[in-house]
Amino acid sequence: MRQSTSKRVLVTGGAGFLGSHLCERLLADGHEVLCVDNYFTGSRHNIVHLMDHPDFELLRHDITWPLYVEVDQIYNLACPASPVHYQHDPVQTTKTSVLGAINMLGLAKRLRARILQASTSEVYGDPDVHPQPEDYRGNVNTTGPRACYDEGKRCAETLFFDYHRQHGLPIKVVRIFNTYGPRMHPNDGRVVSNFIVQALQGRPLTIYGDGSQTRSFCYVDDLIEGFVRFMDTPEQHTGPLNLGNPGEFTIRELADMVIRLTNSSSKIIAKPLPQDDPKQRRPDIARAKALLDWEPKVRLEEGLKRTIAYFDRALDRHELARAAE
Ligand code: NAD
Ligand code: UDP
Ligand code: UDP
Repeated sequence: MRQSTSKRVLVTGGAGFLGSHLCERLLADGHEVLCVDNYFTGSRHNIVHLMDHPDFELLRHDITWPLYVEVDQIYNLACPASPVHYQHDPVQTTKTSVLGAINMLGLAKRLRARILQASTSEVYGDPDVHPQPEDYRGNVNTTGPRACYDEGKRCAETLFFDYHRQHGLPIKVVRIFNTYGPRMHPNDGRVVSNFIVQALQGRPLTIYGDGSQTRSFCYVDDLIEGFVRFMDTPEQHTGPLNLGNPGEFTIRELADMVIRLTNSSSKIIAKPLPQDDPKQRRPDIARAKALLDWEPKVRLEEGLKRTIAYFDRALDRHELARAAE
């Protein structure tokens, strides 16, 4: 018999990297999952192992269009996340963040459902406060190539807080810092997947700029744990809440570590630094620690080993090898 705590949960972007791990976790916790995705960057391969689960349902749908379903909770993750993908069709990126948020908030309002938004550390832009606490308001270029993503996500946060104030909607806004792990798209251009695929294929690792810029990398399991803990907090806790791993590394340190862990003979080459590339990024997670009794457990080296093992297997598979070409 179904547990009384079991819920019907909608995950938008559920066929993506983070979404697929979240669907898996929610099913393991005994919930019913409705996964909604338009497969822009996600893939059925990410959730194929869940298809036969009796509590899993998949719907191909673009959240910029209205969606009428019946659920108890919503995790809104649908949005391309890597610079290469979100800059491919920047107008669609902003539409996904803004129109998608309006539709999912309208859905939550009709159902009185709790809704969590996957926001991002990009709302801080190229930060001049370091590390970034939630009350830092950011330094975003409104007209640059990253703006479609950054401003779309900022507007989505505004919509979440206005639905909360105006309609009393129970919201949870999470600001995710760079997260990595198995099922990242091998060709999405993010630094961890790029470096691992390049190292495994013996191609040069491409460092943009001089590699002195920093990022903080969170392993996917740690992030998902933070998501579900936050969703279960009392209603007054709306966020925004930073979730990420405070360990900070230069991109050059990351490249060296990937080469060492893959035993690769790849060299490192320099490529131009993209416009508006943030120079440093590291979450202040004091709020999440206090509220959720949570902090990341997987160190970068361990998380990279698990991710390398995934890509090592996945690149053997025909479709992923082709996608990475
Ligand atoms: P991803 O690209 O793997 O997943 C995004 C998913 O959303 C994909 O499956 C894609 O097909 C789907 N999607 C895109 N537009 C859609 C639309 N209009 N309608 C329905 N589905 C749509 O990326 P991810 O890393 O899993 O990111 C998930 C969420 O987390 C995104 O909202 C992203 O902005 C946020 N986030 C991720 C990171 C990270 O480091 N991974 C950091 C900050 C924020
Ligand atoms: N919406 C949806 N599913 C629902 C309810 C609403 O997709 O179950 C969409 C609908 O397209 C609407 C949007 O959410 O335009 C915002 O809904 P809201 O009730 O806030 O505003 P209104 O309907 O007044 O525009
Ligand atoms: N980067 C790099 N080589 C790559 C891909 C990315 O040096 O092949 C750099 C990029 O310029 C940025 C950092 O790595 O400084 C993180 O990039 P990513 O696209 O993963 O995430 P974001 O910039 O959104 O944090």
